[in-house]
Amino acid sequence: MKASPAEQEHLLRLQSLDTRLAQLAHRLGSLPQAKPLAELASRDQAVRGTRAEAFGTLEDARLELHRLESDVKVVEARIARDSERLQHTSSVKDVSALEAELVSLRRRLNDLEEQELVVMERVEEAEVAVSSIDMQRAAIVDEVAALEAERDQAAGGLGIEREQTERDRAVLAGDVAEPLLAYYERARVRGGGVGAALLQARTCGGCGMTLTGSDLESVRRAAPDEVVQCPECDRILVRTDESGL
Ligand SMILES: [Zn+2]
Repeated sequence: MKASPAEQEHLLRLQSLDTRLAQLAHRLGSLPQAKPLAELASRDQAVRGTRAEAFGTLEDARLELHRLESDVKVVEARIARDSERLQHTSSVKDVSALEAELVSLRRRLNDLEEQELVVMERVEEAEVAVSSIDMQRAAIVDEVAALEAERDQAAGGLGIEREQTERDRAVLAGDVAEPLLAYYERARVRGGGVGAALLQARTCGGCGMTLTGSDLESVRRAAPDEVVQCPECDRILVRTDESGL
């Protein structure tokens, strides 16, 4: 990995913001509101799942109702057409055929209308279910907002500091080339939150090991734009005037 010394120094600033964010997250996370907030978050997730299911049921019922309504229209149109034809025919045979058909059409219409009532009831029930879930969600949102306000109050300046630090971090990360940033992020995950450390007086700021012998030699020989890693802890070692090389 290649990066200019200035960019490598950027990593140290990024690291100090990340370390601060981790401390803030820890302190905010140990406030008394943290646990109920986490519980509310998982309840909200569960309720969201239930809502998706209930909404699916509602959609199915609406679709079925729609299908029944168009069936009703078709049958009504046929009844109107047959009734019209019945009034204008003089053929006894046609009259009895039309009357027979009308009887069966009316029976069909009756059935459809009965089914419609049943499905309408299902639509209404599903609507009630969805809106009661929405009410539960709204209650959760209110509870979360209240707890967050309480937590922020308890946290004093911590929440504000976190927001500010997150903004600073985003700006700083924007100044680091994408491959180097990704490299740093991977090192940070491996290094338990610390991905880049200052090499100060030949000592790794990440693990505290002092470089000697061939390890020291290879760091000395590395070009300034070569990103070097600690032979002990694998973290990115940033060299500055303080490195003692
Ligand atoms: Zn180290």
